[in-house]
Formats: sequence, C-alpha cells, structure tokens
Amino acid sequence: MQFSRLASYLNSLEETSSRNAITEILATLFAEAEADEIGKLCYLLQGRVCPLYEAIEFGVAEKFIFRAIASAYATDPDEVANQFKKLGDIGKAAETLHSGRASDMHVSEVFVRLYDLATTGGVGSQERKIGQLADVLKRVNAMSSRYIVRIPLDKLRLGFSEMTILDSLSWMLAGNKSLRPRLEEVYNVRPDIGFIAETVKREGIKGLSHVRARVGSPVLSQLSQRLPTADEMIEKMGTVAVEPKYDGVRVELHFKRGKWVRTFSRNLEDTTAMFPELSEVGKEIHADEVILDGEAVGLDPATGKTVSFQETTTRKRKHNIELFSKSVPLKFFIFDILYKNGEDLLEVPLSERRKILEATVKPGTLLAVTPQMVTDSAQKLRQYHDDQLKKGLEGAMVKKWDSPYEPGRRGFSWVKFKEEEGKTGKLTDTIDAVVMGYYAGEGKRTSFGIGALLVGVRTGEQFVTVTKIGTGVSDDLWKELKKKLHAIHTREMPSAYTKVNKALIPDVWVSPQVVVELAGDDLTKSPNHGAGYAVRFPRLVKIRTDKTPAQVTTVKELTQMFDNQMNHTKK
Ligand code: ATP
Repeated sequence: MQFSRLASYLNSLEETSSRNAITEILATLFAEAEADEIGKLCYLLQGRVCPLYEAIEFGVAEKFIFRAIASAYATDPDEVANQFKKLGDIGKAAETLHSGRASDMHVSEVFVRLYDLATTGGVGSQERKIGQLADVLKRVNAMSSRYIVRIPLDKLRLGFSEMTILDSLSWMLAGNKSLRPRLEEVYNVRPDIGFIAETVKREGIKGLSHVRARVGSPVLSQLSQRLPTADEMIEKMGTVAVEPKYDGVRVELHFKRGKWVRTFSRNLEDTTAMFPELSEVGKEIHADEVILDGEAVGLDPATGKTVSFQETTTRKRKHNIELFSKSVPLKFFIFDILYKNGEDLLEVPLSERRKILEATVKPGTLLAVTPQMVTDSAQKLRQYHDDQLKKGLEGAMVKKWDSPYEPGRRGFSWVKFKEEEGKTGKLTDTIDAVVMGYYAGEGKRTSFGIGALLVGVRTGEQFVTVTKIGTGVSDDLWKELKKKLHAIHTREMPSAYTKVNKALIPDVWVSPQVVVELAGDDLTKSPNHGAGYAVRFPRLVKIRTDKTPAQVTTVKELTQMFDNQMNHTKK
C-alpha cells in the first residue's frame, strides 16, 4: 500500500468520532492491506514502530522536526516554527509548507525509515536523523507529510486504542464484532497488535490457536475480584491457596540465561531500568528461560520489615535508582510461574505451577517464593488474613488451587481479602478513582490553591463523579497534587466526563490522568453523583502512579461492592 492511500484513511479516521464508524474504516483498511504490511500499519496507527511494551521511543524535540521540515521544503526552521504557532499543529504546518510536488512511498518503506529514526543513536546521529526524515518528507505527498511528522512527536493520537483495532480485525474477518473476545484472549497472552493482525491476515482466526506465552513478551497480569467474607470465598472457590498481600509493585520478570533479564509492569511498561540489581538474578533461578510473576517490596535493612508502596515506587524517579537500591534493597516475592524452558504453563493448574515454581526459584538475596497456606476452611482462612494484618500487611490474596493462570482477567480465581465487611463497618476495599478537577483551598489551604478534589469512576469509556475528597491529604501531598494537576488543567470540562451535577463543578477541570486510591466508611446511593453512589467519609490513601485511568474502579464494581455491603448488613 502506498503511504498516500494510508494518509487518506488517516484523514477519514481523524474526521470521525463515532466508534462504530472508526471500527469499520479500520476494517476496510485492514482488508485492503497485504499480510506483510498489516502489522506495520497497526503500529503506525498507534504512532509507534513496535508493540506498546517495547521501550523504543523517538525522543526527539519539536526543534528537530522543524529542521527536518525546513530541509525538506527548502525553507528555514523559523518559518516552520511560525507556521506551527499559527496553525497550532505540526502536521498542518508541514502540509502547508509542502512543496506541492506529488510523489509517494510504500508504507513499509516509511515504516523502516521511522524505525531507523527511533533506533539510531551515537555521535552525529542527530544530523543524520534530520537528513533521513527530510528525505522521507521530500518523497511523500502533502497529506502524508501531515501524519508522518506527528509520529515522532507522539502527536498522531487518533483517539482509539488497541481494543478498537481488535474490534476492527474481527470486522475484517467476520463482518461483525463476534471474534473480539477470542482476539482479546490471545492479546492478553501476547499483547502485540502487529503480530496478531499479521497472523489472522495470513491464517484467519484459527491461526491464533498456536499462540503461546513467550519469554520477552509480557503476559497481561491476572487481577483479583472481591468477596465480602471468608465463608463466601470458600463456598465459591473450594480449596484455596492463601498468601500475604504485599504492598509493593507488581513485577513480571522475564529471564533468558546469558542473554538478558527484563521486567514489565502490570500496564505492560518495560520497567527493567528500575531494577538494576536483577542483572544478578540468574544465580537464584534454575532454568534457562522463565517468566515469573511477583511483587517487589522494599525492605528496611535496619528492621528487615517491608516498606510502603510509596517508598518502593520512589524508584520510579529514575536518577535515584542506584542510590535507592542501596538504602532500600528490594525483595521480589514470586507467587507464580507462567513459562519455563520453552513451555507455556498458563493452562497448568496453580497446584502444579506452585511445584514447578518451588523447583525453579532458589531463594537468595533477591528472590523469595511467597509463603502460602492451602486450605478449604473458612476459619483458617480468616485467621491467616488476621495474622497478615497484625504483621502490618494489607491482607491476603486468596487463589483457587486448581485454577489456570488467567491473563488480564479479574475473575473469581483470585480474590483479595482486605478487611472483612461488617467487622469494622468499613468498605472492604479501597476505590481507585480518577481526579476530574479540584477546588481552591479554604482556610489554611488557601495558600496552596487547592483544598479538595472531585474524583470519579469509570463507566465504559467515560468517567462519572463519585465523591469529593478533602481529608487524608498532608500539606506536602496537597502541594504535589497541585503541581501535578495544574500541569494538566483544561479550560472546558473534558469530553470523557459525563453526568456532572452543577453543584459539583470544580474550580479547575483537569484531564483524566491522575489516579488516586481512596478509602471510605461505606457506599450510599446518591442522586448527586453520576456513579449513582457516594462514598461516606472519603479519605485519600495515596496517588496510584502504577494505574492508568482505564484501570480505575468501574460503576459495575461499585454496584458489586454496594451489594456485598447490603447482603452483609442483612445477615
Ligand atoms: P489494590 O488496590 O488492593 O492493590 P488492585 O486493584 O490494584 O489492588 P488487584 O488485582 O485487585 O489489584 O490486587 C492484586 C494486586 O496485589 C496485584 O496486582 C499485586 O500487585 C498485589 N499483590 C500483592 N501480593 C500479592 C500476591 N501474593 N499475589 C498476587 N498479587 C499480589
């Protein structure tokens, strides 16, 4: 496919906001694409040259693009900057300055050039890269230049996610969305949209039957459900393994002996740079290739006790990593094994995986196998959970003993057991919510310019309010929040927000980016909040830097929590 053809598809996509129409346009594009280019198309549609989990970034500044455009269209960078200022969009600036000469390049060729741009480094690479991009811009038509320059600056943003691409692949194959669940199931094991597209284009949906977990490619993390009491857990799950629930950072560890070790977060980010000490992990692993699932927790060297999530995640500030890894050494509590020496273990029951895990991980300074107890007694389960709380942990994780590993699923094979409902009158679980806006401070907080937050939960792709929070926030945290939120304030209410009651309109709207965890006494039905529920006595627990807005609590989950709460009060 020529790039000009792709550009006209991109143009239609840009002008469409209806999800269904977008799905159908993409399906037509995919039907028209050749098998050896559809994968590349999928990456380009996300403004990338590789799967999302690969840490390949362009890392170029606006000035770089100005110079490439100037060089391609025989003008100077200041003129490009002027056009950019006038039009407010780098793509339109390139299109306007385009020389008008019509020519074209193949999509695959543009892809290779962009890939080189993202991966070339070293001395003098900047000049070479500008030359490379300019050369591409000279050889494509005006509309193509609009899209090509947006990609390295991460400005393509067509407004749909990989889930929409999966829908479109289903449309291409079946003329409807019926294959989406199957495509998503495979995506959860191999979240590489280009690979999936190419496989189904070549072999149809049956081609996916031989897709397995592979070391180096993250598997989506299994997540947990909630149940109100130990009795209900045993009733629903039968025999369970129960483990401490650590308050750290989820780490999926991929190891290939003699080659590399890589880690991924539950959001599929490559987090390898956060854990330099893992270069030594081979000593504690008895396998040549392995994928392990676990939680990294900071250990206070003085007391040997685990430190909080906030301290553990301080590591995210990259420059401090070396220093921090000495003052707060990490322990990786491994609770699962997903793959070993070429064999995908996802379908193997937990009871068997645990044996394989114990034979594979030889605990040392870095790794520990998470302790566990296997039981079918609600009383023992409750006792185990209470013991964890006494040790200062969050609670327990309860896992169905004969269940397979379920990538990306929040099902009843894993249940988190925090506080038993009814015992303390508190919500069984905290709520993760997105900050939608904030109110100027009152009293002492006037000087901070922030005194309360308006937060919301998710319903489909939109957010609805669930509470205001003004307590549980230290002065330092208010200052941090103000800085974070001010940077993302918006003039209008973001279009992803819906059903916001007039009385709740905040002083400042912010775009949905910051996730906070909040605790409360209980949920009440509420006509004031779009969620239909309100949180009684809400307080902020922490900022969740490890979660994206797509991962906040949903209205459906709130309904479940509310029902759990009601069932319990009735008993
Ligand atoms: P929370 O907000 O309570 O941390 P969550 O909603 O972020 O929970 P869940 O799927 O509900 O995520 O809880 C599982 C999380 O708990 C995992 O992602 C992992 O980071 C953490 N965890 C700690 N200990 C364990 C364990 N033993 N087994 C599994 N997950 C554990």
